Amino acid sequence: MSTSREQTSGPDRCGFVPPYVLRHLAASRPDGCGPRTLLADQRLREHREALPPGATLRTTALPAAPEAAAWTVHDAGGLEQLPGTPVRAAGQPATGDPAVDEAAAGIEATLRFFAEVHDRASYDGAGAPAVVTVHFGRDYANAFWDGTQLVFGDGDGEVFERFTKPLDVMAHEFGHALTQATAGLVYEGQPGALNESVSDVVAACVKQWLAGESAADADWLVGEGLFRPGVQARALRDMAAPGTAYDDPRLGRDPQVGHLDDFVVTTDDNGGVHLNSGIPNRAFVLAARAVGGRTWEGAGAVWHAALLSGDLGPRTDFAGFAAATVSAAERVLPDHVETVRAAWRDVGVEPGRPSTGPAGQGPAATGVVEVRRSGGFAGTRVVARVDLADLAGDPRGDELVRLLTERDVRAEALGAGREAAGGAPQPDRFSYAFVLDGEEVVLPEQALTPSLQRLAGLVLDLGSTR
Ligand SMILES: [Zn+2]
Repeated sequence: MSTSREQTSGPDRCGFVPPYVLRHLAASRPDGCGPRTLLADQRLREHREALPPGATLRTTALPAAPEAAAWTVHDAGGLEQLPGTPVRAAGQPATGDPAVDEAAAGIEATLRFFAEVHDRASYDGAGAPAVVTVHFGRDYANAFWDGTQLVFGDGDGEVFERFTKPLDVMAHEFGHALTQATAGLVYEGQPGALNESVSDVVAACVKQWLAGESAADADWLVGEGLFRPGVQARALRDMAAPGTAYDDPRLGRDPQVGHLDDFVVTTDDNGGVHLNSGIPNRAFVLAARAVGGRTWEGAGAVWHAALLSGDLGPRTDFAGFAAATVSAAERVLPDHVETVRAAWRDVGVEPGRPSTGPAGQGPAATGVVEVRRSGGFAGTRVVARVDLADLAGDPRGDELVRLLTERDVRAEALGAGREAAGGAPQPDRFSYAFVLDGEEVVLPEQALTPSLQRLAGLVLDLGSTR
């Protein structure tokens, strides 16, 4: 059992612009904002890793009334030091600096949304003051939540506008604070994609609430107005039609997916958190449209109740999250329980037993596991892939999930691989390839530990019968 990944991860820093977009920009314009933003991100990661284990969000618990949640906007002055100089607080007049005043309007509206719609004081429910920094870095094309505060760059002025410009970017980052203070979803794999999706849901709800828009009339775009004129992009994400938000030579093409069949297994982007978030995003839109009326009173209220229900944990997967929304619907929107269930089924997710294992149980049991057995006397090749999300209710699937969560089988496989590296393959024995969390390990048959043997057996069995 490994607990190290959980304990050393520290607060999540959730960048608004996915790393693959920044890399594409870096490749297309070597002097552009991409490399500089990636460098700044790297420095932040190093800073974060220097934090003591268990360091989490600021919990200045004030017994404040919902309307009293305080905020302060700071100016980093183009440096990368946080939080910078305080320049405007709640109740103070506009400064004339667009980034400062946009951030002020954004945080004010977001806090007001939670107070008025959900009767919640700030992200922690206890009135934690919201700390916002603008003018972070030079040509910094990103926004993020660093575990304690919200941070906004000015963009590069060529592809990206100021990140304070679209108000829903603020709401999205605030959503990461809310998730950290509630479900605590880790920022990788399926829980990470859910973390991302919750932030987009918050962004959509705040945007529609401000506009007084119904679910039927909403455009479901996230980050609309973030791109400079001439960029072939409607927004950064389209929750209703994942994968269609942009297609531009400088940005590449929107790679989001909207159905579990298309789940992207990758080690990039923390396990594709910005790619696979399209799946729960689309489930939310389908639910919101089917419930009808105003999103924040319908599907938005259900998702919010699920977040606060205690049914979710750091490693909850899509099926577990879906089940939590179905349970929440039974409490807050009893006429629409089947509507919510149907929305998840439409994106390929069967609401299942919530997987709310305590933190530190090893790698997430998420995504797709592949086992390939090749060689042997006949030299045949058997490929079996199972999607853990499809296995709810199957006892062999449950055993597989237990194997993946209770033991760090990936570390075991890598260890076995190292031990086996010097040994010559034995004639006519099988060779096994394991693809776990997008990482491939190839092992000779004799190097398999008992749990790896069992894992291979289960996957080959399940994969070949489905
Ligand atoms: Zn995010």
